This record gives sequence, structure tokens and C-alpha cells, in this order.
Amino acid sequence: MSGRGSSAAVHPARVAQSKWAAALATFLLTTGILSLARWKAPFPILLADRFLPLSGWIQILLLAIYGVFLITKIADRRDTAGIRLRIWLFFSIVFFTQFILGVAGFEKLLMTGRLHVPVPAVVIAGPIFRGERFFMPILFVSTIVLVGPAWCSHLCYIGAWDGLASIARRRGGSLSSGWTWLRFTIFAATPVTAVLLRFFGVSGSSAVIIAVGFGVLGLAVMAGLSTRRGVMVHCTAICPLGVASNLLGKVSPFRIRIGPSCTDCGLCTASCRYNALSAQRITKRRPGYTCTLCGDCIASCETGALGYTIFRASPPVSRLIFLTLVVSLHAVFLGVARI
Ligand code: SF4
Ligand code: SF4
Repeated sequence: MSGRGSSAAVHPARVAQSKWAAALATFLLTTGILSLARWKAPFPILLADRFLPLSGWIQILLLAIYGVFLITKIADRRDTAGIRLRIWLFFSIVFFTQFILGVAGFEKLLMTGRLHVPVPAVVIAGPIFRGERFFMPILFVSTIVLVGPAWCSHLCYIGAWDGLASIARRRGGSLSSGWTWLRFTIFAATPVTAVLLRFFGVSGSSAVIIAVGFGVLGLAVMAGLSTRRGVMVHCTAICPLGVASNLLGKVSPFRIRIGPSCTDCGLCTASCRYNALSAQRITKRRPGYTCTLCGDCIASCETGALGYTIFRASPPVSRLIFLTLVVSLHAVFLGVARI
């Protein structure tokens, strides 16, 4: 990657062409994944089908058009941090609105009626404790294969709120290594706790209380620490699913690279809310393992040294491929993600 030079090297006509190719790919991907989900799910997975049989096709079409709208809006912008957070929060609001209305009695808004606690740690601990219902881990790993750790910057129903909390402080801060120890301790303790609860025959309702307690602790961390430090403390130091996302995410070929035009000025450090761009990491020309491919740092670099890469594609093309995948998944999640 050669920074701003590499972006300028791509002819504008090629970029415009790529943008429309990305729009078409987003349409096809969103339509394809939702059609597959609709066909394979053992129950009407799309809300429209639940209210008016066969109208699921209209919902699929609308979500695909929404995906195309979104990709054409953000594809030619370097500064997408605001859009990313807004659409991420939008998804979370849709998700929790369905959950709250579902619990209040509108059962059609629930996935199957078999509730689980909407706390990310439960994606790991829940199936171990219950010994069944692996839908969420499978969904999580599938997204990781497609977009790496971007689950934690675009798709998680909880993380958006930590992102919102962290921007209460204008400049992003950093966390010391002690937080990393805490993070990995919680990560290791999560499956161990689930095994122990199962081994000792703890009831489902007691397990739910523990999960809700952990969720409330997470909200307190967002409100009390993320807001003050300007870092997503919940996501980078507490949530065990975040660790899984960071580590498993390395199977994805997408990366954020710091190119040779980097001058070590450190401007990008303040735009990273994931504690991944310390001065040391910049010197090493590689973001820390907590990078979630959010892309917020790209616009902050005055020499254009930061960018997405995948295999040998140029940074602008890599970014388009990444955005196509993540926007399609966002549209799909809007259609099918519920408790
Ligand atoms: S760290 Fe946890 S809460 Fe934060 S985005 Fe990732 S999975 Fe969600
Ligand atoms: S290094 Fe850049 S892309 Fe990675 S988490 Fe930080 S701001 Fe986001």
C-alpha cells in the first residue's frame, strides 16, 4: 500500500465502475442470503411473512434496495465513521425494539419464542450451558469468516452502545496492559463458568440472573468508563465475545495496513476507539489485535497511509469489497436478527 498515492493511482472511471459493481454485488448478496435464510429456516424467519404470507419477497427486495442505497452513499466517502455508528445504532434499536415488544406480548416479533438473554457473552456460554441451540455461534462464526472482527464494529446488537458511549469524549484514549489481562481472564472464565453451572445442575432461571447481572455490569462499564476514557472499554476489556471476534477474525484476509507514507505523527490514535493504534503499534506499522476493521482511522490520516487490504487488491478496491460484504450483512441482520 502506498497511502494517498495508491488511492490516486486508481483512475476515477475505474472507481466509479467499482462502485456500481459494489452496488450490484450488495443487491445480489443481500437478496441471496435472505432468500436462503427464508428457504432453509424451519419457521417464517422474515417478519413480513408472519403478517402476510409470501410478502417476505417484498421485504427481501426492500432490504436489498436499502443495502444498495447505503453502499452508494458510503463508497465514495473517506470519512464514514458517523455513518457507521448511525447504521449500527439503527440496527441495535430495531433489534431491541423487537425484543421488548416480543417480551411484552407481540410474540410474532420474537425469533422462535425460546428466549435467550441478549448479552454477547451468552453467545459463548449459552450453548455450553444448555448443550443445544448453536444458531448464534454459527451466525457469529459465519460473519467472522466473511468480514473478520467487523462483527464488533458493525453487527453486534450491544457494541453500538459502547461506541456511542466512547464518543462522549472527543478524542479516543488508550488502555493499559492490565486491561488485557482482565479481558483474557473473563474470556477464559466464561466457558468455565458455563461448564460449572451445568455440572452443578444450576437452574436455567439462575443462569439467566447471572447473565443479566453480567449484562448490567457491561452497561455500567460503558456509562462509567467508556464515556470518560474515550475508548470502548466494554468491548475491548470486558466482553468475551469481543476476544473471540478479535482472535478468530484473523482467519479473514481483511486487514488495516499502515503504509510507508506514515510519518508517525500519531493523528490517527485519537480516532481509534478500540485501543488498537498506540504509538508503539504505529511504529510497528500494524494496528493492535483489537482492531475491528471499523475504518474510522482512515480519514484521520493526512498522508493517506491507512487503508484496508485484502490479498493483492489496492486499498480503494479492498475497501469496496469490505464495505460490500459488511453492508450486505447489515441489511441481512436487519431482516433476520432477533431473539
Ligand atoms: S466486544 Fe462484545 S459487545 Fe462489543 S461489539 Fe464485540 S461482541 Fe459486541
Ligand atoms: S485501527 Fe483503525 S480500523 Fe482498526 S479499530 Fe482502530 S480505528 Fe478502527
